[in-house]
Amino acid sequence: MRHRGDDCDKAVHALYNYLDGEMGLRQKRHLMGHLRRCRGCSDAADFERTLLSRIRQACPQEPPPELVERLRRLLQQAGDE
Ligand SMILES: [Zn+2]
Repeated sequence: MRHRGDDCDKAVHALYNYLDGEMGLRQKRHLMGHLRRCRGCSDAADFERTLLSRIRQACPQEPPPELVERLRRLLQQAGDE
């Protein structure tokens, strides 16, 4: 059975902001706390981090926003299964 609460949805959104570097310190602490408690989100975080670092290696400038957006959507679909 899937266990995914509001807290997880918030964490995932926060994670995106975090990876974009658009997160305040307080929000970041909250996210890190959730990642420590929640296996599902912490796996998602690892996956996203790996993904983004690959993108950045491939595009040393800025990764195209459309690409990042598309990958996120794929990721969300995968998470909904
Ligand atoms: Zn979670």
